[in-house]
This record gives sequence, C-alpha cells and structure tokens, in this order.
Amino acid sequence: MRTLTGLPTARGFAIGPVFIYRGDGDVPVPEYLLEPGREGDELLRLKRARNEAVRDLEGLIAVMNERGGKAEAKIFDCHLMFLEDPMLAEETERRITVDRVNAESAVKQTIAGARAKFARMNDPYFRERVRDLDDVERRLLKALVGFASNPHLELRAPAIVVADDLTPSETVQLPRDFVLGFATNGGSTTSHVALLARAMGIPAVTGLGDITSVVRAGETVLLDGTSGVVTVSPDRETMLRFRDLVERPEALSEEVLSVGRRTAGTLRGEGEVPLFANVHPGVPFDDIRGQGARGIGLYRSEYLWLNAEREPTEDEQAAAYREAADFAATLSPMATVTIRALDIGGDKMMSVLSRQDAFRRESNPFLGNRSIRYLLSNPGVFRTQLKAVLRASAAGNVRLMYPMVSCIDELQASAEILEESKRELDREGVAYDRALKVGTMIEVPAAAVNAAAIARYADFFSIGTNDLIQYTMAADRGNEAVATLYQPTNPAILKLMRWTIAAAKKRGISVGVCGESAADPLVGVLWAAMGADTLSMSATYIPVISKLLSRLTRADLDDYLKAAESMGDGATGRAIMDRCRQWMLAHIPDFGNIAI
Ligand code: PEP
Ligand code: MG
Repeated sequence: MRTLTGLPTARGFAIGPVFIYRGDGDVPVPEYLLEPGREGDELLRLKRARNEAVRDLEGLIAVMNERGGKAEAKIFDCHLMFLEDPMLAEETERRITVDRVNAESAVKQTIAGARAKFARMNDPYFRERVRDLDDVERRLLKALVGFASNPHLELRAPAIVVADDLTPSETVQLPRDFVLGFATNGGSTTSHVALLARAMGIPAVTGLGDITSVVRAGETVLLDGTSGVVTVSPDRETMLRFRDLVERPEALSEEVLSVGRRTAGTLRGEGEVPLFANVHPGVPFDDIRGQGARGIGLYRSEYLWLNAEREPTEDEQAAAYREAADFAATLSPMATVTIRALDIGGDKMMSVLSRQDAFRRESNPFLGNRSIRYLLSNPGVFRTQLKAVLRASAAGNVRLMYPMVSCIDELQASAEILEESKRELDREGVAYDRALKVGTMIEVPAAAVNAAAIARYADFFSIGTNDLIQYTMAADRGNEAVATLYQPTNPAILKLMRWTIAAAKKRGISVGVCGESAADPLVGVLWAAMGADTLSMSATYIPVISKLLSRLTRADLDDYLKAAESMGDGATGRAIMDRCRQWMLAHIPDFGNIAI
C-alpha cells in the first residue's frame, strides 16, 4: 500500500482500477486492463504495429545507405534488432495474454525492464543502448496508437483516470460514465481538468507529482478528492473503511445540502448573495438542477470549439446558447445565462483553432493573442458568435460578457462589432434583445487597477479570480510547483478585489465573482463580505456556500471582512486565510462539518 498526497481538487471519493492516459508529445498513450476475450485482438494490433515500425525502419535504413550515411544506418539496424528480438516480443505478448494489459502498456513495461537491465551494465556501449530503446518504444507506441480507432474509447469500463495532465479537450472526450475519478501529476484546483471534474461531479486530485510512474494500469486505487489523498493498492482494512465513504455519495450531511439548496444565497436576517452555476457546454446541465443555482453565471462558450473539426456555425451556436437560456428559465422565471465570448488561447487550446498559424507561432501564449484579443483580430469569428448570442437573447434572459479584457480600447472595439452584428440581424429581420446587457470579465490586473474607467463601458463586471490571481502573482494556475504562490487571500489580491468592487458600486453596475475561489467556503464568503452582488461556481459547491451564508447576517459579513483586513498588507496570504478560518470557527462552531 502506498499513499500519495496532492491537491484536493474536486470533492468526493472513488475506488477503482487505474486507467493511465499518457500524453507522449502529440500522441496520447492509454494504458488499461483488457476485457476478457480481447487478448487475441490486442496481439493482432501489436503485430500490425510492429510490422509498420519495421517497414518504417527499413525505409529509413535504405535512405541512409543511399545517402552514404552508413553510421546512421547502423543505429537504425540496432533498432530493428530490438524490434525483432524474439525475447522482447515474447515478453510483450505474455503481458497481453497473461497479465491482460493493453498492447501499449505491455510495450512500456517490457521496454522499461530491458532499459533497467541495460542501465545496470558496466559496459558503456550497452548503457548507451538505453536511448535506442527509448526510440524503439516511441516508434512502436506511435504505430500502436495509430491502430486504435480512438484511444479515448478504449476506456470501456469504470476506472480512475491517471494522467500527467489533461487538456480540456481530452477531458471532455473521455466517456463520462466510465470515469470514476481523476488523478494527475500536474494541475491545480483551478486548472481546466479541475473545473471540468467539478462540473461533471467527478472527484479529482491534482498536483500529485509523479503518479503516472508510481501506479500500473489495472492497479486498484482509492481516490479522496476531498482531502487530496490517493492510496495505491490499499490493504483490506483501508479498503473497507474507504468503501463506506464511497457508498455515502456525499459526505455532506443531507441537512446541509437541503438547507443550502433551498436558501441559495439568502443571508440570515435580511439580504442575499444569489449563487449561480458555471457551466461547460458539452457537460450535461442536469446536475445543476437541485443545487439551488439562481441561473448560469458563466457559460464557457469555448467548449463548443473543443474537438470540433471546424468552427461551429452561427446556427449551431445560436441553438446551443438558446438551449442554455431555456434551461436557465427552468431554474426560475427571472434566471439569466451569462454567455462569455470565446475565451481561447493560453491553457485552452482547441483542436480546430490551434492548427491555425496565429497560435502555432506564439512562444508565450498566456500573454499572447488569446480571448478578446483573438476575437478582435478575427472579426469574422467574433461577429458570427455575437450574432448567435443576439439570436439566442430574444427571450430576454441572456447576458453577454467579454473575456480577458485589459483596457477600454478592447471594449470600444467590441462594442462596434456588436453594433455591426445587430445591424446585420436587423437587415435579416431577426429578433434579439435590444436591451441585451454586455459586461466584462475582470481577470487581468490592468483591468482591475483601472476598473473605474472600464466600468464606463460595461453593464456589469464578473471577476475571474482564476486568472486574476494567476496574472497578479505571476503563478501559473495549472502548475502545482507554484501552487503555494497561488494565494486568493494575498493582500495584493484583496486590494484588487476591493478596488474592482468599489469601482462597480460607484458606477452603479453589478459585480459578481465567477472564479472558482467563490466556491471556497472561506474565500467565497469573503468576496460576499466585500460586496460582490453574486457568486458563480461549479454547481455542486453551491449548497455549501449557501448553507454558510444562511448562517450569517450582513453585520457578520462586515465583521468577517474587518477581521481579514485587520491583518494588513504585511500579512501573508496564508496568515489571512488562517484568520478567516478562526473567525468562522468562532462564529459557526460546526463550520468544519459544513465546509468540507
Ligand atoms: C477565471 O479566470 O476566473 C474564469 C472564471 O475563467 P476561466 O476559468 O474559464 O479562465
Ligand atoms: Mg479566465
């Protein structure tokens, strides 16, 4: 039994066999246990891949010889020898037929064994052969993956997906019904696999460092997304104890859940901070129902581009946006959906757009031509999306929002394109909401610092703390190595939050928070105390925040904020967080039971 600790990323518990999803450059290499009876097919796949790799190598050797590169040709001769080595072949096949692992896993394990043997040898010639083995492995895996119709579909039975990291597009392609949990080497609580896991209600632990080399395909793991612990090959007693947790699907008490859902952001005494859901199109909305959401506070439209072979058309987009608006209307008659324009680039590369030159050339995509910048430099894409949003707005419950805005120029330019889009719809005789509210995300420090000016060009603000913290602290939101710097309560962040909220109030526009920090019981309440009008988060986290708010009066919130801010600019983010926890424990003795 081994235990690994990472970041608690999406609440919940899961037990299951490991499915390793390994990205090898551009080629994802899955590792899993075969279903009984599939061994024969898998041997055939291995044989075809081996033949292809041999053919490739023979071709290379012929070219080398022709060009007079005899020394290079010899290297490939050695690769050929490895590929055709009967002992290696036999061992790989045995792993498929006896251990019942898929061909990729069998190749990896066999080559790992050979690699270890060579590395132990005294003769430097043999030690050098380790590199050749790496090359042979890569060649075989590439050929194998080419023979799998779709590696994602190989996940055919419930399993815990273990990966180095997962891109948003990889995550949404995995068959939802078979993913019991996610455990990744990299990532963090605001990385995209984290947000998707939360949206899908799947437990996840990220930032585990090196879990992909610690576990083997098929091994049993216990995944605790609530405290961030993964146990590999548990003993019987640990397994039984954990099974209890899994079988109680929510470790939250039913009482917390039902009160939280019912009150949905109502404060004790007077007032409320309505709670909204963040959604990813492609992930069913159904899980939102029953969590108490007052509407959809963030619709991440970029997920419509995920894995698409082409751009979604205006009709396709309008239908998707209308579906979200119709769904929102079922939550409550006044409920709105806030559709965010395409937030692409940086950590959110989409297959269809990443192939375009503009993205390929960037050496620093987080600071590159992303989000609103991409839209403004591709007005055709922008106009199509704006027209689709307008068309979906006819019933009056849609709001539009721009991502990654840094300065007023971007809002001015966007307003012009929006006007053009409206004129086009007028000419086409298409109805839309003429009073459509248009807001902006505040997630770039420049926009927060200059929020007063930005407020003149926006009907509302939505603060994206996921990116605001990342850019202010210069700490990648998805990199576990800098997770300690990613501090929502750092005094610098608190100042920017204060500043932004004050600017919105002064201008008389609404301000919400849609970053995942809103779902953190200590932090979400802090934003409410600062004056955020609404909080939007993964729906499954709504009942907890809601239950907490129902125990606090407006005066309590003022006192809570005072306690946090009394620490001053000289305090560390952690010290302020500790102060917040102390306050909560003093005022809500069962805080620990609510805020899990
Ligand atoms: C944010 O940055 O806080 C946000 C909500 O947007 P995303 O997580 O999609 O970047
Ligand atoms: Mg963002």
